[in-house]
Amino acid sequence: MAAVVPVANWLWILVFVIVILIGNGESKYIKYNTTSGIVEGKLNVHLVPHTHDDVGWLKTVDQYYVGSNNSIQGACVQNVLDSLVPALLKDKNRKFIYVEQAFFQRWWRDQSEEVQSTVRKFVSSGQLELINGGWCMHDEATAHYIDMIDQTTLGHRYIKEQFNVTPRIGWQIDPFGHSSVQAYLLGAEVGFDSFFFGRIDYQDRAKRKDDKTLEVIWRGSKSLGSSSQIFAGAFPENYEPPSNTNFYYEVNDDIDSAIVQDNPNLFDYNVPLRVNQFVAAAIAQANITRTNHILWTMGTDFKYQYAESWFRQLDKFIHYVNQDGRVNALYSTPSIYTDAKYATNERWPLKEDDDYFPYADRVNAYWTGYFTSRPATKGYVRFLSGYYLAARQLEFFKGRNKEGPTTESLADALAIAQHHDGLTGTEKQHVADDYAKRLSIGYAESEKVVAASLASLTDLASKTDSKTMFQQCPLLNVSYCPPSEADLSEGKDLVIVVYNPLGWKREDVVKIPVTNENLVVRDFSGKEIQSQLIPVLNNSLSLRNFHVEAYLGKSTSVSPSYWLAFSATVPPLGFSTYVVSSDKQSASISKRRIAYKSDTSQNYTVSVGPGKLKLIYSGNEGKLTKYVNSRSKVEESIEQSYSYYPGDDGSVDLQASGAYIFRPNGTKLIKREGQVPLTLFQGPVLDEVHQRINPWIYQITRVYNGKEHAEIEFTVGPIPIEDGIGKEIVTKFTSSVKSNKQFFTDSNGRDFIERIRDDRKYWNLEVNQPVAGNYYPINLGIYLKDNNTEISVLVDRAVAGSSIVDGELELMLHRRLLRDDGRGVAEALNETVCVRDECLGLIIQGKYYLRVDPIGEGAKWRRSFGQEIYSPFLLAFSQQDGDKWRNSHVPTFSLVDSSYALPDNVAIITLEELENGGVLLRLAHLYEIGEDKDLSVTASVELKRLFVNKKINKIEETSLSANQQRAEMERKRLVWKVEGSTEEPKVSRGGPVDPTKLVVELAPMEIRTFIINF
Ligand SMILES: [Zn+2]
Repeated sequence: MAAVVPVANWLWILVFVIVILIGNGESKYIKYNTTSGIVEGKLNVHLVPHTHDDVGWLKTVDQYYVGSNNSIQGACVQNVLDSLVPALLKDKNRKFIYVEQAFFQRWWRDQSEEVQSTVRKFVSSGQLELINGGWCMHDEATAHYIDMIDQTTLGHRYIKEQFNVTPRIGWQIDPFGHSSVQAYLLGAEVGFDSFFFGRIDYQDRAKRKDDKTLEVIWRGSKSLGSSSQIFAGAFPENYEPPSNTNFYYEVNDDIDSAIVQDNPNLFDYNVPLRVNQFVAAAIAQANITRTNHILWTMGTDFKYQYAESWFRQLDKFIHYVNQDGRVNALYSTPSIYTDAKYATNERWPLKEDDDYFPYADRVNAYWTGYFTSRPATKGYVRFLSGYYLAARQLEFFKGRNKEGPTTESLADALAIAQHHDGLTGTEKQHVADDYAKRLSIGYAESEKVVAASLASLTDLASKTDSKTMFQQCPLLNVSYCPPSEADLSEGKDLVIVVYNPLGWKREDVVKIPVTNENLVVRDFSGKEIQSQLIPVLNNSLSLRNFHVEAYLGKSTSVSPSYWLAFSATVPPLGFSTYVVSSDKQSASISKRRIAYKSDTSQNYTVSVGPGKLKLIYSGNEGKLTKYVNSRSKVEESIEQSYSYYPGDDGSVDLQASGAYIFRPNGTKLIKREGQVPLTLFQGPVLDEVHQRINPWIYQITRVYNGKEHAEIEFTVGPIPIEDGIGKEIVTKFTSSVKSNKQFFTDSNGRDFIERIRDDRKYWNLEVNQPVAGNYYPINLGIYLKDNNTEISVLVDRAVAGSSIVDGELELMLHRRLLRDDGRGVAEALNETVCVRDECLGLIIQGKYYLRVDPIGEGAKWRRSFGQEIYSPFLLAFSQQDGDKWRNSHVPTFSLVDSSYALPDNVAIITLEELENGGVLLRLAHLYEIGEDKDLSVTASVELKRLFVNKKINKIEETSLSANQQRAEMERKRLVWKVEGSTEEPKVSRGGPVDPTKLVVELAPMEIRTFIINF
């Protein structure tokens, strides 16, 4: 034998020996070494096993949970969680994250004590980490920030109660674009250390991969700056395992990823090949990532239904890859990954005053359609969101009733609806119906809470058990309100309790449908107040009758003849009572002037508005021409028009317009049809201009005495599709404002963000969709300005909007489309409403509000009135003898000291009695820094005067989601380093609350959360 064996031969011998050693024996148990932690100096591949469980999409939330309706999608969350327990027990190094509490809580309540105790150990050891932790993974474009806070709080408080932990990580991997409010408010302000997501614009992503800026420090708020920044990571692809080689191991799925075959007795042994593929994928990702830590999302939608099928392969990868030694693979979670990133001391690029909207996943595919999709769902959610806020206040006033009814089912339904396939409108029709059903059940229960509370508050003086049965009118928007339509000629009066959920005294017009003509309205002192009758026209009546039958399943017997309008003045967080009676003496009718004008064919102008604001119309054309405010001296030429975008049918490049995607194929002006350009009703309370644009667009413009904005109520639909073309309906305001490509849209109803047409702040946009690519989500409003003037439009629900031409603002009000857009929902967005066998295309009625101000003065209206849109008066009705009622009941109430009100720049966004008797209070400063010369300043709220008849025994400031003390959250906060900057600009925040003085300070845009014990 030769003494020296060449190296190559040695290797051969080694392989031979190994093959003999293993191959000749029986295959035997291999203990995979999964103990690896982070290894310094190596590339660390953080394997994060996860499942993404949509709280409703192709199936309903319950169908997903129990695994029914599997012909639509084989998905069962119960399987995921059930199979997770033995899989985690098998190896304590295995880890998993779980996100959606709506599912987790369904499962948790069904588990035995043994399983619960095992799962508690998983959580405390970090094997199972509950992250994000809201009820669902909410949408970030069309959700209102108050709803986002509420649904996150719901989940976080359960997690705290059951496991005594606070989620550390934001995990918004699937929503279609990402908002500033998510980053700073639902990220930093809930105490998250980082925030991860999958969907950003394809052009943006390409650039960020190039210059290694997928991971940034995101400062979402101008006002709160570095004090609420967060480490934000966009994934290099989606939220699935890396795709260049497959690492995908769902049981029975038809995606054919090679498993790690490490049994040499069997064919297809592939360990070296799979290790090489793993290392190659890791190095590819490392090349676009800063530091030597990369994260792999090991899972996707509804995966881990048999968790072992994934973990078995991951065990092997970790074992063999680490044996190989080129990179280090480990079981990890986003928390471990975040801590590893933080420990590197790296400086990170900054993303400031900007968000990740709009999102396109490829050329011509802007996901901006869903900003408006299913406008009725969006409207219903917003209406109930405001109602839920008011209902919780009233529940608190009366005291929570443990036996029920409570506001909990509405909380649950609203939370589920915030899902990114919920109010986005990107779910299948039967799932949209399921959300609506849950909301309706939640409303019905909350309606009882509200009625009982108002009964107990008004009945205080009678010292009897509250017996008043208050009725409410959720279909008031279609002029249906049985209590107000009742015949009042028989000596019964209509008592209306008007509740104001805002912290300010407020005056607003109440409008109710009535059948009698001779009516008089009195305030709680018995004094007659001014009122006005406006006829209910035939088109409203047919709309009313159709929808009452569709939604309530009954036909209406009486029809109202008039709207009765009067101005109500209501104290903060309180109510006033008004009594409507029939009035035999016709003397007072003169106070309720009904004026009516029709068109003439002559040239003339019409001036509309009983107060300082006049809208000028060209009467013969029936067209708005001018907005004149005699107080602010604003005089602006304004025109309004309707047009539609024909939805692309996908015949060119397979990209149709659909539920997610807005893909217009041209634009068409909608011309006015018919003989009567406009119909006018004028009176002392308000003026109304009725315009029938065509057989399926009708609008009423209202100008109220004492208000300086115009309210426009539109009725759009059924959108005609007989020509085989889907249509997306917009309204446009055209002005002479030189906006120079600039406009502003809000982030989830809160901070306004500057938008520049055809431009992005952090990358050079290649424009391929000049309309769809300039669309942004609007929850509060949109405005534009030049050196003299600003024009603002506020909305009553989430809609899409833009400024496609200088001086012009547009809103997309309704969409009806005939093709699926290829993103999974596999249905065309073609909503209908049916009565018996007759189905009509969905009709949308909604409102938007227009105001023009001198430059610098618009914010006050946008903020204060924006809050009034969100929290309208809540009306409750009862038929009583008016005089008797006044003598035996409390006519007016306020929580607040009679000489006190919240400052103009502060709103109460939560007042809620918790199950344990504590009271959750959230106060929000409504203004950004620099937004208003008087109101963008620190505000103070005196809690002693806010809760005038209650004594505060204990007050504790918490994180935004009320699951930990604020001070503790601040102590734990990671202090990230930002590229290029040495000194951070100073940020102002309110100071600690002195427990004896009980004054809360709020700096601009600050929201402070407290748990109070009385
Ligand atoms: Zn999803």
